[in-house]
Amino acid sequence: MSVALHAVENGSNNLGISGKSINRQQNQEVTGVFAPGEAKFRKYALTRRAGSILYNPDLAAHQQHRTCWCHRGVANAGDSVAVYRNDDGSNARMHGVTTCKSVWTCPTCSAKICAVRQAELAQGMKAWVEQGGYVFLMTLTFPHENGEALAEILPAFTKAKAHFKNSKTYKRILAKGIRKGSVSSLEVTRGDRNGWHPHQHDLVFCTPDAFGDTREGDGGRLASRLIDELKEAWYMALRKSGLCEQSEMSDVLAHGLDVRGGQFAAEYIAKFGKDQKWGLSREVTMHAAKVGTDNKGAHPFQLLAWADEGDTDAVAQFREYAEAFEGKRMLSWSRGLKKELTGADETTDEQAADQVLPEESVAGRIDSEALAVLQSRRLLPNFLAYVAAYCGNPETAQADIDAYLEFARTRPRVAGGQVKVKMHYKGFMHVDREVNGRKD
Ligand SMILES: [Zn+2]
Repeated sequence: MSVALHAVENGSNNLGISGKSINRQQNQEVTGVFAPGEAKFRKYALTRRAGSILYNPDLAAHQQHRTCWCHRGVANAGDSVAVYRNDDGSNARMHGVTTCKSVWTCPTCSAKICAVRQAELAQGMKAWVEQGGYVFLMTLTFPHENGEALAEILPAFTKAKAHFKNSKTYKRILAKGIRKGSVSSLEVTRGDRNGWHPHQHDLVFCTPDAFGDTREGDGGRLASRLIDELKEAWYMALRKSGLCEQSEMSDVLAHGLDVRGGQFAAEYIAKFGKDQKWGLSREVTMHAAKVGTDNKGAHPFQLLAWADEGDTDAVAQFREYAEAFEGKRMLSWSRGLKKELTGADETTDEQAADQVLPEESVAGRIDSEALAVLQSRRLLPNFLAYVAAYCGNPETAQADIDAYLEFARTRPRVAGGQVKVKMHYKGFMHVDREVNGRKD
């Protein structure tokens, strides 16, 4: 039985070449480098792009942004790397490599952290609904214009949220006894016309009658009077924080705060972290499409895809974004809520990034030298897509992995990496060494 695989547009590297057996026992012949048919594996290439954008030639290796080192070496010198595979073949990833664990700047780590967060949110919502509770989705945003610096509007947005939640209106409408707690998620998109668009989604865990009888229909009966009061309080908070003018009042009242019923909250949780737009190949490839066609703007990871196409504005914008969001928490539960609903303590992004998910198990292992081979040939996304698709048989998985590595070694190294990787510290051992495409 023969399996034909096609080449992948891997950034500028179109690797159309002949390959190896993927399953020795079944003697399947493979022609062509396995192409990640699914966009999810492109995150590895985009992580590399993020690293090259964030790399600062004026700094020493240990001072570089941690995303520069993500997936570039083994986490503990001497250890091998476990290759995990989702049991249904939908995904594969490395465990035991250096990871940056940055939810903001790393498409790879972000996907993992979001998957963990999504499961926690779903568990929390289920528990609360089973207790007879209700969860609605509240979105907070403000008027924004092109040219505004993220470093200025982001702190002002934080201030506005604090004003709002300390307001008499908020405390009365969502008082103790009505509101159990909430989970806040900070997000940002960027539009060509209107620039940076930070916004926050709050999942509010409350009693079913917080806004009238929400058990009937899908939040359609939310009491609009109370919501209007919240909208006014949000407008006042934005005024106090300098994020809107009086002349923008009607606009803010119409669009600044949005409350949606339980079905929307459930849908939001279900796709949490999964609607990152860079993953949609149509949007990633059609650069021109970003102008005026998507008024919600692009996810920052899409900037990486545009940077790959040579867009220097996107490079500068990604740097600005990375700096402004450094140290910010993406998802936060109000005090005690997570413990009460899920029985689990709050976890840091670092802990979430290292969790093993129930749907995955170890397909095989590779050593640090093999990792360096995959990275220097830019074959990491292809390799993981291959593991996901073909390494489902535990008896042959390691042999199939080894066969791929044998093939990878025959491929030439790919020049052009702007990330200078030359280091021996903190276990970042054995990585490919490249300086702007030169080898040393
Ligand atoms: Zn990372």
